[in-house]
Amino acid sequence: MEVAVRTLAGGGLVAIPTETVYGLGAAINSDIAIAKIFAVKGRPQDHPLIVHIADIEQLQFVASSIPLDALKIAHACWPGPITLLLQRGDQVPTTVTGGRETVAVRIPDNAFTRQLITKLGSPIVAPSANRFGKVSPTNAQHVCDDLQGDVDLIVDDGACSIGVESTIIDFSVSPPQLLRPGGIPIEDIEHILGFAIGSSDGVSRASGMLQSHYRPQCQVVLVENDEEAAGLTARLTPQQLPSRVLNRCENLPNYASSLYNDLRQADDDNIQTLIAVLPSNTGLGAAIIDRLVKAAAPI
Ligand code: AMP
Ligand code: MG
Repeated sequence: MEVAVRTLAGGGLVAIPTETVYGLGAAINSDIAIAKIFAVKGRPQDHPLIVHIADIEQLQFVASSIPLDALKIAHACWPGPITLLLQRGDQVPTTVTGGRETVAVRIPDNAFTRQLITKLGSPIVAPSANRFGKVSPTNAQHVCDDLQGDVDLIVDDGACSIGVESTIIDFSVSPPQLLRPGGIPIEDIEHILGFAIGSSDGVSRASGMLQSHYRPQCQVVLVENDEEAAGLTARLTPQQLPSRVLNRCENLPNYASSLYNDLRQADDDNIQTLIAVLPSNTGLGAAIIDRLVKAAAPI
């Protein structure tokens, strides 16, 4: 903990555990460290970072206005895998928001990281701790595999319990819009609010909204069920082999928490074609489908 605080305070990068994926963290007030995040990831400058806070009181320093509905969700779901898009507060540099007047913020459900933010005395900004466009890391070894040498410290707190990124809801517009399906199902949020969330306008405001993202080396092909997977397997050419079928539809939390490891493992095992069975489009299924579709998209 002390080393992590010192590293961040000194303008270094620390890979931090969260319940969604591992983050590549910098202190919000360190311009140098923020610049390093973009350099290390190879991330375009206009792709904003999520601001991680330790308690709801810190929200007033990050956002200039907080709609009541956003506050309701914050109280109901934080700490947890939901990110709120709000009007940017003065203390948030535009390098963090990709030049936008909105800021994305959440409280992660990881005790170490929350304590780190508290001891540092300022929010930590972080995207996922992987190279841009590639598969997100859900354990410390994944971060090592991707970024070793480019990050000052990696905190190992085991595997991420949720395993897919946070749900992002834009509360800077009315009615609020879903920018990215994630760890908290949209149905749960609508239930708390008592009204329907809009779908995004299609403007690429969240990097997770790009067509191709979360991509392994192997070709990912999507099917509806096991029969289709078997039929497709039988038709693969020798160059498309070896293949593997990925189907964890009977347990969606498990599908989500294993997904990025499954994509990485396919590459480690030299699989050429990964045939993934899509879950139904409800609850966590929406986030899993979103990631699989992007993993399967041509670059
Ligand atoms: P990552 O966890 O690597 O996907 O990065 C954080 C996500 O939050 C990305 O999809 C960002 O584009 C999104 N995000 C952060 N701030 C904003 C913002 N102000 N407007 C839209 N999306 C944002
Ligand atoms: Mg990412």
